[in-house]
Amino acid sequence: MIDIDDFRNFVNANLLIKYKLKIGFNSMKLKRTWFERYGFIRYYDFILQNTAFLDDSHLLGERIYCILNGIMKIPRCAMCGRKCSYKTYDDGYRNNCGRPECYIKLKATLKNKDGLTPNQRSAIGIRAAQTRICDNGKTVASNRMKRVHKNRKKMIDPITGKSLTSIIVEKTARTNKNTLCDNGLTIAQNGALKSAKTMNKRIKSETGETIKQFRIRKANETKNQIGNDGLDSYERAYLHGAGKNSSIKYYSTKLYYQGTYEKHFLDFMKKINKLDLLKRGPRVIYRDDGKSRTYRSDFAINNVVVEIKSTWSYHGLNKSKVKRNNVKFQATVEKGFRLIVIYNKQYLFEITRDVFGSRYISDDLLDVQHAIAFNETNFLALMNNSSPSKKIRAPQGYLESNDS
Ligand SMILES: [Zn+2]
Repeated sequence: MIDIDDFRNFVNANLLIKYKLKIGFNSMKLKRTWFERYGFIRYYDFILQNTAFLDDSHLLGERIYCILNGIMKIPRCAMCGRKCSYKTYDDGYRNNCGRPECYIKLKATLKNKDGLTPNQRSAIGIRAAQTRICDNGKTVASNRMKRVHKNRKKMIDPITGKSLTSIIVEKTARTNKNTLCDNGLTIAQNGALKSAKTMNKRIKSETGETIKQFRIRKANETKNQIGNDGLDSYERAYLHGAGKNSSIKYYSTKLYYQGTYEKHFLDFMKKINKLDLLKRGPRVIYRDDGKSRTYRSDFAINNVVVEIKSTWSYHGLNKSKVKRNNVKFQATVEKGFRLIVIYNKQYLFEITRDVFGSRYISDDLLDVQHAIAFNETNFLALMNNSSPSKKIRAPQGYLESNDS
């Protein structure tokens, strides 16, 4: 016959292991086959006999726990009255059935010896972590987060090659984008609204500015500074930000293009093996409507500026762009550049300085009747002519109409 002390000694000697500070069952042994193999089947039968009040769904560990603790009846969930769920040898039964709704409700209502609910106690813990300062001058909470982030970065998913950090970031971004809040906006949209409001309200203690004012001032201060890449902030923003979708790097060159017309010209230069002559066009400052403006011309070969134009980019809607384009052309030739325009992929113009005189021209300068065909022969002939072409001149006839 086995009595309870016998059984307790058997369990202590054979089934329990110490792991760190906890004691628990060696789960490898909690099987009928183990008891059989080592001649302990009578202990196995003892367990089943003394826990007959449990149905088949309860495992050996729970049964042994019940016997050792004299439990003859499973405690009931305070919220729903179902059986409480068994946790471990160390912890025994939970005070609830383990279903999330009961667990959350219980957490909010139950008070411990200190008179606090678990939620209140964890809030105090969080506050303490946020205020207690460690040796390195940072709070306990921020050191903890730093450790967590460091570990997450190291954990790489073998299949995708992504770190746990980037997986979490991507998942959060997806959730924020796809989850609608009560006000009909997504979490991401609400977050953007909130941060915009904060930027207007929050004051930086050093200068007394709002965050928004601070950022605008910083942007204005740094916009003319040339970075390591040789670009100022406008150019960087254009290449890396605002212009990113429309400005594309041409193979491994330093050239960028926008749209098929510019690409057509780059392809042409590549085909005739002259791509290495080509540079990004110079910036030209011009005046229009009484204001000083800057435009970046398309390309340059030595002192020849090559502008790529289409019906749309030259004329615009209802010819609204013609005057502004002409002013840019004028400023370019007055800076001493020669100016060649390739129009609609098939026409070649040279715009010379004597077209303009000293006034604005709002007439169409790119009349194809005055153009020559854009092909390799014509283009190279035009480029090799170091002085402004006398023969090929776009604006023939416009001076008359404009002078009258
Ligand atoms: Zn329950």
